[in-house]
Amino acid sequence: MATALTRAQQAWQLLEHLSDPEIPVITLRELGILRDVREGAEALEVVITPTYSGCPAMGQIEDDVRATLASAGLQARVVTQLAPAWTTDWMSDAAREKLRAYGIAPPHACASEPAGSASVVQFAARSATTEEVHCPQCGSANTTETSHFGSTACKALYRCLDCMEPFDYFKPY
Ligand SMILES: [Zn+2]
Repeated sequence: MATALTRAQQAWQLLEHLSDPEIPVITLRELGILRDVREGAEALEVVITPTYSGCPAMGQIEDDVRATLASAGLQARVVTQLAPAWTTDWMSDAAREKLRAYGIAPPHACASEPAGSASVVQFAARSATTEEVHCPQCGSANTTETSHFGSTACKALYRCLDCMEPFDYFKPY
């Protein structure tokens, strides 16, 4: 006799392949947005953390989560958890690789700095001088930022000066 899955395990299996509405090649779990599935008092609770506060995709993500579970007869409540805040460090290596293959330069791991005046100064100095973003097409570091806000607020628009291809850079934070 096969062991029956709990509702929460079933929900994990269903949500495992749910992709990000803005980056269809990557799943919510790989991005680190999908945090937890747990038994609530009345229904399942799915815990998600937005990539940044006010991310316009979150409404879409909540709808997708509910619709995916409802199609399997599972009722769930989506809980948005803001603390600890999402950082690009939560993105798996596999997710970074998929981003690159999709044509988006993955974020540098420099997000987990404590907030404070010292680190703000340090961040400003560093981003002005040493941030090196590699072209996802040809790997060249000879790139330039053309717009700080790309197709979405999470990304900046870059152009490669070697192959001349424009590309999105997923900004670290
Ligand atoms: Zn290039």
